[in-house]
Amino acid sequence: MAIKNSVSDTVARAWFDRYKKEMTSSEYDKYVSDFKKDTIVYRASWKTAETPNEPMPDGIEVQLNGASDKVDSKICVLCNKEFTGWGNNPEPLSNVGVCCKTCNNEKVIPKRMEELDV
Ligand SMILES: [Zn+2]
Repeated sequence: MAIKNSVSDTVARAWFDRYKKEMTSSEYDKYVSDFKKDTIVYRASWKTAETPNEPMPDGIEVQLNGASDKVDSKICVLCNKEFTGWGNNPEPLSNVGVCCKTCNNEKVIPKRMEELDV
């Protein structure tokens, strides 16, 4: 069996929003059914226990609490380097993919702090 992809709920929701607009309804239905087979959705790692789960579209379920450590290696969307272990959510710098711990600490968290400050 193929290794499943994993994606955070926040990223998955952004994909579905986008594809729903860009695809025909039959393409979109196929995409959703493939997604359910191949992809594990986890709660975004930056969410705390108090952050409510937002409802997912089209019967997608959030299956893991916290970032998955089951996927061997990932490419950071911010520095393009490969890393292993838990990916971090790169929002607001990117709304797709995951980023490495270094980028999370040095770029993503400062950016979020900055946005909170406005
Ligand atoms: Zn990085």
